[in-house]
Amino acid sequence: MKQSHLFTKTHKNISQQDVSINAQLLERAGYISKLMAGVYTFLPLGLRVLTKIETIVREEMDALGSQELLMPALQPRENWEISGRWDTVDILYKLKGAGDRDLLLGPTHEEVVTPLGKEYIHSYKDLPQAVYQIQTKFRNEARPKSGLLRGREFRMKDLYSFHATETDLDAFYDKTIERYFKVFKRCGLADITYLTYASGGIFSKYSHEFQTVTKYGEDTIYLCEHCKVAINKEIIEDLKQLCPQCNKKELVEHKAIEVGNIFKIMTRFSKPFDLVYTTEHDEKKLVVMGCYGMGTSRLMGTVVEVLHDERGIIWPEEIAPFKIHLISLLKADIDKADDLYNSLQKRGLEVLYDDRQDVSPGQKLMDADLLGMPWRMIISPKTVAHHSVEIKARGEREAKLIDFQAIPEFFGLDR
Ligand SMILES: [Zn+2]
Repeated sequence: MKQSHLFTKTHKNISQQDVSINAQLLERAGYISKLMAGVYTFLPLGLRVLTKIETIVREEMDALGSQELLMPALQPRENWEISGRWDTVDILYKLKGAGDRDLLLGPTHEEVVTPLGKEYIHSYKDLPQAVYQIQTKFRNEARPKSGLLRGREFRMKDLYSFHATETDLDAFYDKTIERYFKVFKRCGLADITYLTYASGGIFSKYSHEFQTVTKYGEDTIYLCEHCKVAINKEIIEDLKQLCPQCNKKELVEHKAIEVGNIFKIMTRFSKPFDLVYTTEHDEKKLVVMGCYGMGTSRLMGTVVEVLHDERGIIWPEEIAPFKIHLISLLKADIDKADDLYNSLQKRGLEVLYDDRQDVSPGQKLMDADLLGMPWRMIISPKTVAHHSVEIKARGEREAKLIDFQAIPEFFGLDR
């Protein structure tokens, strides 16, 4: 992509209403644009990041053996009356459809997926099953804040599993935890994201959160460095207590951002929707369910909260919009830079090429730091004299000269 053609440009400043780091950096760099509080447009660069995150999530959920589908965002009141949640959930976007029909925009999909399961699950032979979707969801937040971390409209992966027994659910639940950690690792959040015991008591086996530790987080967790597990502040009883798992270490307080949550919802929804199956012995039993959420747009905001410096974003390679930011510093070398851009493109490398003629070298370097591609590649009279380019990783200070011929090899390709 030539930067001169890019739909967006960087901004010096954005409104001071939203002071969260992810909103500041993502808006200034032109990844997202705020339409109103808690509602954002994903601009071309931002959509590339979101799509890459969702591709990772999709790959890991497919590897679990779950199947992707897409349920409607618009849901009827009747289903939420059956579950008893129409009047009890306070963040619902309720609206009137034609004929005065009561509808809502879904914040979650148990009320859709459970009756859906009823269409296809009848016997123990039909179990287990798991389906997921990646979709736009809605929460009527009174005071949305923190950029992509807490929105009124946001992207989310939600997975639902159906089982004959609690033992079978337990096994699937544990496999899902492993896949969640693979997603966080691929998004650059390895080693700082912890399985966190949430509501229902310290030893609750029914619900967990995944919390990414960062000083900018809104949640407080208590962490055992030894076991790599944490407890959410809301349930901790004694701040001086030892780790519930190893019973050795003292727990340490940290700020964190919740990047996922999973629940064994058991028969909470199969009961009101009468989702039953026939056992081998011809008995009728309620299907046991699990529900597994992960906000993909929130994950993008979390990555920025964690991976940045005073100059801008530092994208991990697998979710960066482009792997390389090629910068032609001076007009004199534009032909050489064009050639290099074309040859990198041909080799299948994703390149953002700053070919802008009316922008100063200083501004180009500042923009590159703000945008945060993993590799900055500079071509200038000095480098051309040595038949080379200057390459620097975004997170590092030292740059090095690499011969034109050696560039493919540097990026792991054959010459
Ligand atoms: Zn411990």
